[in-house]
Amino acid sequence: MSDLALGNFNRLSAPSQLKITDLRFAKISGAPMDCVLLKIYTNSELVGFGEVRDWASETYALTLKSRLLGENPCNVDKLFRKIKQFGGMSRQAGGVSGVELALWDLAGKAYGVPIYQMLGGKFRDKVRLYSDTDQGGRPDGKKMGAALKERLDLGFTFLKMDWGVGTLMGLEEGGYLTAPLGFLDELKATRGVRRLYYSDREKFNKYNEVQNIAHFFTGLQITEKGLDFLENYLAEVRSVIGYEVPLAIDHCGHIGLNECIKLGRRAEKYNIAWLEDLLPWQATEQWKKLSQAIATPLGTGEDIYLKENFLPLLESGALSIVHPDILSTGGILETKKIGDLAQNYGAAMCMHMAETPVAALASAHVATATENFLALEFHSVEVDWWDDIVKAPHKPIIKNGFIELSDAPGLGIDDLNDEVIRAHLHSTQKDIWLPTPQWDDDYSSDRTWS
Ligand SMILES: [Mg+2]
Repeated sequence: MSDLALGNFNRLSAPSQLKITDLRFAKISGAPMDCVLLKIYTNSELVGFGEVRDWASETYALTLKSRLLGENPCNVDKLFRKIKQFGGMSRQAGGVSGVELALWDLAGKAYGVPIYQMLGGKFRDKVRLYSDTDQGGRPDGKKMGAALKERLDLGFTFLKMDWGVGTLMGLEEGGYLTAPLGFLDELKATRGVRRLYYSDREKFNKYNEVQNIAHFFTGLQITEKGLDFLENYLAEVRSVIGYEVPLAIDHCGHIGLNECIKLGRRAEKYNIAWLEDLLPWQATEQWKKLSQAIATPLGTGEDIYLKENFLPLLESGALSIVHPDILSTGGILETKKIGDLAQNYGAAMCMHMAETPVAALASAHVATATENFLALEFHSVEVDWWDDIVKAPHKPIIKNGFIELSDAPGLGIDDLNDEVIRAHLHSTQKDIWLPTPQWDDDYSSDRTWS
């Protein structure tokens, strides 16, 4: 067996001889989402770390394994173009994107360079995070304000919260929402059921039926009483946190364009940084009308795969903020390209991120190297083991609401912490990093033309 096959070569002198030999995963829950961590192994001691999008299947990555074995991981763009056809919108892009992260990590480690440097270098030394806060347990604006204040006390300089239909559905009293009779009960009964996907098939099928109705087709409307409640909610939040700190809003509910306009107008005087995903991102014309009807900035993008799919919305002028998730765009280079594209249209780039430190650090590399970056999401303030998932030169990863990257090569992660990962193993899994030989020979003729 050659020295190369045994891994006996100087890793800094032979990146051109690197070859991919294996791909394995570890699935965890409670981070606070279900997350799939990836490792790509090589014919050297180098291992690349990646991650599939939150709530996505590891299968999206495993199906790529046979397309990657034997390839040099340093040829990141070449391999991305080879596997790109296996990505789709939102979670379907989780495999392609997660693998792309691991390729960059390997290339960086092989050449001894941090990823932000390979992307063109730094625009900033520190990456600003915005802290997201769910609706649950915060039925009034004072309680939400108190939760947001805790984030400010941790050092965060930018905030986001949920506000909208979900806020009203949590209230005991009726009269806040109009909907086909019985539909609100179905919505309530299927909330949170996604977590049962592997244990209660009947409930999960019902969840899909009810919760996956697109905004235009639900027939949901917010009453004047509902709008008054929501406006007062914002006034209460601002009375606690003040007006100096930016506050974005997400999860307004599946409502049509007219309701979005009504809601957006009520938000205007509370200086909202952006209203997020008010409509499905595909509805370009409706986004355009919405942006012309309200004065609050609009943002979307966490479900958009590939830069070209951001183009119609940017050309329409509807977006002040592009909001890609690095694990749905196609990965690191594609996200950098999305930021640069948005810059041409006068839109800033914020980044969605509800995953582990692997995705957070990968996002931070792009944020460091992209001029129009504004803020990166952090969704795990209440997960006290989040930081322990990785071993890295600078801990904690987030200090006073910022990530400051080190000069370490690749993503800047020394290793993954198997003890912590195993402690949060997903209940469908027997163990972590198990062999995946069943995916070695998966084959189809992949050429997309004849
Ligand atoms: Mg969102």
